[in-house]
Amino acid sequence: MNVSKSRRILGPVATEYTAMNTGSWRIERPQVNTDICIACGTCERNCPANIVVVSKEPVPSVVIDMNYCKGCGICSEVCPKDCIEMVLEQGENK
Ligand code: SF4
Ligand code: SF4
Repeated sequence: MNVSKSRRILGPVATEYTAMNTGSWRIERPQVNTDICIACGTCERNCPANIVVVSKEPVPSVVIDMNYCKGCGICSEVCPKDCIEMVLEQGENK
């Protein structure tokens, strides 16, 4: 079989990342316990979608753009304080 034909793309492909609403892929969502977050930024640096913003001031905060969070759970895995829990999505993307 012709290799190039066997790899032909058969569906729509977004050429701009922001054109994909990857939030609709999500089965679980990250839930951050900011009481124990130390604002180290590990989740921000490791999110493959680059949609996490961590701030130290005035208090530690983690903002995740749920329009693009695909629920992969990497942020939860890498958090050194175990303060990101993945919880079942309830059917909405906000
Ligand atoms: S990795 Fe954990 S402790 Fe560090 S900023 Fe993210 S949520 Fe906070
Ligand atoms: S679940 Fe995945 S996509 Fe969503 S914020 Fe965490 S690392 Fe990023």
